[in-house]
Formats: sequence, structure tokens, C-alpha cells
Amino acid sequence: MDLAVLLALYLGLLLAAAALLGGCPGSAARVLSLVIPTRLQRVTQKVLHRLFHTRSRLFAVLHVALQAAVYAEYTWEVFVYCWELEFHLLLLLLPYLLLAGNIGCFVLCSRADPGIITKSNHASLVKIYAYDGALFQKGILCPTCNMEKPARSKHCSFCNICVHRFDHHCVWVNNCIGAFNARYFFFYLSTLTVTAATIASITVAFLIQVVLLSDMMHGSYIDDQGQEQAVDILFLIQHLFLTFPRIVFMLGFVILLTLLLGAYCCFNLYLALTNQTSNEWHKSRRSGCSHHLTLQPYDRQVVHKNIYSKGVWMNLKEIFKPPTVLEKEKKT
Ligand SMILES: [Zn+2]
Ligand SMILES: [Zn+2]
Repeated sequence: MDLAVLLALYLGLLLAAAALLGGCPGSAARVLSLVIPTRLQRVTQKVLHRLFHTRSRLFAVLHVALQAAVYAEYTWEVFVYCWELEFHLLLLLLPYLLLAGNIGCFVLCSRADPGIITKSNHASLVKIYAYDGALFQKGILCPTCNMEKPARSKHCSFCNICVHRFDHHCVWVNNCIGAFNARYFFFYLSTLTVTAATIASITVAFLIQVVLLSDMMHGSYIDDQGQEQAVDILFLIQHLFLTFPRIVFMLGFVILLTLLLGAYCCFNLYLALTNQTSNEWHKSRRSGCSHHLTLQPYDRQVVHKNIYSKGVWMNLKEIFKPPTVLEKEKKT
């Protein structure tokens, strides 16, 4: 084997092991720490901490680069071939329209205030949600911000702020997702999913058209043993990959993206309809939807119940129009 490949493999293994060290401080990490040089461990841990535990533009830049690569391929090859095959112009322009919408949502989501809790707005934000006594309890202080944590809020270690109705910190938009930018995140995720699905559909339609026009399905080929074989789906995929390598590669990527984003979109829709944040969903699952509160009399088990859900439509409305303290006071 080539020395450079061996070196790359060795380095890859070291980095993977060092990555494990950062994530699992158990016995595996102790064993690996004996093999990996201390200096490399320190450097890798520093890099991993910088990437995954601090606010960084790296993922936002990667996001733009991947989007640019997909659109470059779509523009230079798929669009031109489809245009020649007389696809409808509006259909071919649809991905650009979706891109404009997606960039708009991306900018709004990454620049908007997610609901930063400050000394001046704390008094009003603390009144918006009641403490459920299970996931959120009254009187807990954020040691960094030195303020009582309002119900449904969380301190983001990336941004070093407490966020009202904290959902999660999104590395791709480099911002927290909270009460005030959840709607932009929802649109951002939806437009990204629809964009990937649209590009995938147009590309699949183009490849099907190529196969139909060439009448390849009724042909045959000679296999490695010299036998004549009828063209099957596997042969077709191989043939298309050899003829349009970049297009098929891009198609594989956007199909994978559509599936992953589609699943994540469904999960987010479920959370919105049931009025839960990702943070609450994780917390309730981690504790098995029940909590032993030692302060409770007779050490009784308090079952977590989502007290914030007000029905499907009201829950959905809350994402697009977060409640304010004035509205809450009007109702009471
Ligand atoms: Zn805080
Ligand atoms: Zn954050």
C-alpha cells in the first residue's frame, strides 16, 4: 500500500480516536489516551471544542458551500440538458425561487433575536409560561446570567445566554432557536426540504427521459462471462453513473438530504403541534417521562404532563405568534 495512504489512514484513526476521547470519558477513552500522543489529544480536543461547543461560522459556511455546489451542478448540467429536452421553463426555474426564499429564511433565522433573556425583559418573560414542577421548577438560578430561569428557558453554552422558550442551538444557522425565531426556522427547514425534493425530482425526471429516449430498457449487454443479458435496473444505474457521474452523484446527495430533512421536518411539525421544544422532548425522554422529586412529600413519583399544549391550532399559532405578557394578562 502506498505510504501516503497508510499515513492518511493512521492519521484518520488517530483523529477518530481523539474524537471519541472528546465524547466519551469512559474506560475506552482511557485506553485510547495511552496510544494517542498527549499533544495531539490536546489539539484535537481544542479543535472539537471550538467546532461543537462554541459559536462558529464554520457550519454556516459549509452550508453555503454545499448549496453552491448543488446549484452549480444543477445550473451547468441538469438545467441545460432539461432545457434541450423541452422541460417547462417554470419548472426549471422553481429551484431558484425556492433558493431565494430559503436564503431569506436563513438570514432571518441566523440574525433574529431568538429570545435572549436580559435583566430588562426578565420580569415580563418569567410571567409567560407557568412552571410545570417537573421539567421546569421555580427558583432555579442560571449561574452564568445570575437570574431565575423562566419556565421553558435554557442557558445556551454556545452563545452564553439564557433563551426564552429554548428549542436548540442550530450550528447550521449559527444561532439559538427560541420563541422569537422558531417561525423563521420552521420556514427555513421547510424551504430547504422542498428545494432538495424539487431538485431531486427534476433530476430523476431528466434521467428517466434519457432512458426512455434511448430505448435502453429494451436493449441487452454482454456480461463478464460473455453472456448476453437483458438490461436491468442495476445496469441502468451503472450506465447513467458512467455517462453523467456528477449528476448522479448530486442526485444521491439530494435524495439523502430530502429523506433526512423530511424526517426532521416531520419531527419539528410534531413538536409544534404538541407545543413541545426539542429541549423539552429530550428532557422528558431522558427522565422516562417521569420524575422522582426528592422534595415532594412521601417521595411520590411526579409524572411529566405537557401543560403547555392548548390544542393543535393554538399550538401552531404559538410558533408563528409567540405569546407576550400583555396577551396573557388580557386573558386572565
Ligand atoms: Zn443563562
Ligand atoms: Zn445558542
